[in-house]
Amino acid sequence: MSAFNVAKFGGTSVANFEAMSRCAEIIANNPQTKLVVSSACSGVTNILVELANGVKDESQRAQLINKLRTIHTDIMSQLNDISSIKQRVEALIDKVATLSEAASIATSAKLTDHLVACGERMSTHILTRLMQERGINAVRFDIRGVLKTDSKYGKAEPNLNATKQLATERLVPLCQQHVVVTQGFIGSDADNETTTLGRGGSDYSAALIAEAVGAAGLEIWTDVPGIYTTDPRIAPNARPIPEISFSEASEMANFGAKILHPSTLLPALRHQIPVFVGSSKAPQEGGTWVRQSVESAPLFRALALRNNQTMVTLRNPKMFQAYGFLADVFTVLAEHKISVDLVTTSEVSVSLTLDQTDTCGGAPELPAQAQKELEQLCTVEVKQGLSLVALIGNNMSETKGSAAEVFDTLDAFNIRMICYGASPHNLCFLLDEDEAKQAVKALHEELFE
Ligand code: ASP
Ligand code: MG
Repeated sequence: MSAFNVAKFGGTSVANFEAMSRCAEIIANNPQTKLVVSSACSGVTNILVELANGVKDESQRAQLINKLRTIHTDIMSQLNDISSIKQRVEALIDKVATLSEAASIATSAKLTDHLVACGERMSTHILTRLMQERGINAVRFDIRGVLKTDSKYGKAEPNLNATKQLATERLVPLCQQHVVVTQGFIGSDADNETTTLGRGGSDYSAALIAEAVGAAGLEIWTDVPGIYTTDPRIAPNARPIPEISFSEASEMANFGAKILHPSTLLPALRHQIPVFVGSSKAPQEGGTWVRQSVESAPLFRALALRNNQTMVTLRNPKMFQAYGFLADVFTVLAEHKISVDLVTTSEVSVSLTLDQTDTCGGAPELPAQAQKELEQLCTVEVKQGLSLVALIGNNMSETKGSAAEVFDTLDAFNIRMICYGASPHNLCFLLDEDEAKQAVKALHEELFE
């Protein structure tokens, strides 16, 4: 095991010169940090996605590209000497312009990945230079030479063995001499085509890289000082959680706490790498440690909220006392690579929610072809405008009265679907989007305050 840490900085942490300077300070203050994984500057990926979706109007396209140029040149203008990076960043902006023009004629997932990858490629040039000017022995490294994935553009899956091998050969030796700065979110497939891991994928990248180099720790620097009992914007009395277990944190990430990308903890868990989550704006405030074993295991730990839920209800009266219906349904879903989140069943129906973390954002759609195939088995009803609330804790399903406490509080709300008991760590339910925040607030007051 290497004795160094991997530190990941999110988009807001590298949004501008001041933010990047704070990152450099955090890195300089911890000699154990040898590998830095950076997101694109805040807002950049959104612009790139817009361009990749095809902006037909030329002046509108030019405007967006100008916006990108400004974000990056603003930071560069505050550096002392940019002779080593100026041309490289400009070349990437030119590349964005060329690819955007191509996307305005015909879009493709492959082109999109090529385009959106430019964000991280630019930010890492600038961050590396800034760190060098702060006296850090920083070098930039193109992660596409290490992080290998399949070719599922927009949401590529990592090839762990290839990544580990390349990391051992190319990355670990470099980290012995330097502080290496590299890109989150992006990778490359077997043909060396650029791929991305899905929106918000930098956390996941950082965890995969930490796993591949056998890191001692993974630091996720973001814009909030750690994981809270719930989003403080919803419940002002939400409290920071100093320490949380991998299982609880995974449930939270899966069920919508925006702090970590849902896949982030898998590599960390596989390799038992402790994960720290903190704010690069206020490192002195500390943050949350995610570890295998933690000192306390409270009944209720946190509340997570996720909007943009799509619920699919499948009904077939013939399902009553028959067999094989669910198998048929899930075969169709599997064939269309549709990932399902929650499932509840009754005698004649099954309701499920669809999962989505790919580049498009928004509520996931049930693909038309999948719907057609499902309609041959049953009636299909799709409902959007829903939110998922997840209560995370320990031994809830084995603790008398815990469900009653929750549902008494929710008496006034219209609950659409409940999942309880499958995991000892969560109880979750679906309700209308416009009621969800109130429900979280009420539950927080009742269970946590
Ligand atoms: N820049 C990418 C995004 O905005 C990846 C990330 O920041 O995690 O989705
Ligand atoms: Mg991000």
